[in-house]
Amino acid sequence: MADGFAAPVDFATGFAHGFTPEVEALTAPLFAKLQGKVTPFEWRMHAPLIAEINALKRAKNAVILAHNYMTPEIFHGVGDYVGDSLGLAREAQRAEAEIIVQAGVHFMAETSKILSPDKKVLIPDPLAGCSLASSITGADVRLIKQRYPGVPVVTYVNTTADVKAETDICCTSANAVQVVEHAAREWGVDRAILIPDEFLARNVARQTDVRIIAWAGRCEVHERFSAADIAEMRQSWPDAEILAHPECPTEVLEASDFAGSTAAMSDYVSQRKPKRVILITECSMADNVAVDAPETEFVRPCNLCPHMKRITLQNIRDALLFDRFEVTVDPAIAERARAAVQRMIDMPPPVVPARYDLVRARHHVDVELI
Ligand code: SF4
Repeated sequence: MADGFAAPVDFATGFAHGFTPEVEALTAPLFAKLQGKVTPFEWRMHAPLIAEINALKRAKNAVILAHNYMTPEIFHGVGDYVGDSLGLAREAQRAEAEIIVQAGVHFMAETSKILSPDKKVLIPDPLAGCSLASSITGADVRLIKQRYPGVPVVTYVNTTADVKAETDICCTSANAVQVVEHAAREWGVDRAILIPDEFLARNVARQTDVRIIAWAGRCEVHERFSAADIAEMRQSWPDAEILAHPECPTEVLEASDFAGSTAAMSDYVSQRKPKRVILITECSMADNVAVDAPETEFVRPCNLCPHMKRITLQNIRDALLFDRFEVTVDPAIAERARAAVQRMIDMPPPVVPARYDLVRARHHVDVELI
């Protein structure tokens, strides 16, 4: 995606030479792909940085892992591997580069370091956090385990290394139902602790017979959507298909036409080619999916993740140029956290990204909130 760029860069100063004819020519195919998503005015600012970043990657044997919530000039312009948390976790392990730059938030960079301890992992802005990851600590999980002995602890990947180290097996929104059922079967119990996202836990509880014990963490982006918002959108765009992420409140899933992980939403659009869709998730996701779905009109109820938006082309360039900011994880914690992530990775990947059955999603199921 980001290959084919020579080095219009003066490495002595570290700065590109601006929007030169060479940069314009090098980045023209990419600009053609992003037309309608990025204006020519913006492109004249983005293109020199994109060219410089792609040249730096080659010079330093680095790759960029870009999450779906990155802006299009990052996602399509410099991302070598793009996708959701699960996809990026797998790619972090497979990547042969010496340096990984995580275009995402801090817990994702930690996950890359946990899976690739011999690689240098950089995050362009160390303050790129996550409301879910900061909702719970390793000490909290140790107390939970004391309260529920013998019950498997399933942890969403949106957590710190400390929390993963206390975990039996990790999950993402794409495989949470599968992981919870696997854990209950392996432990020989009918319950599982699924932390820290309360809404994901409530939505998973409606998809399985395993009883769910949940923690009251929230994604500050997805928790803002309500059933009233969905009703308003239906009134304004009655022919739009509404796709919701399972980190949204259960009432939002109940009111939607489809629910699934970011990968499942992306598949839905590429396979069904709806005339008009509304993605109930982080705003840049729609921008990135729209690049490859020209026949679909996207209505954008724009909720931006302030943490993801800390990552810019500028600080990705600086990360590569100055080798900053390196993410480290205590080796003893990393070893235990790796076991939890690896158990998830070793499970067979779903044939298609998991979808949430909306008939089941509309039935109330109790969860025990810690
Ligand atoms: S979108 Fe939500 S879950 Fe993802 S990083 Fe932002 S706050 Fe965390």
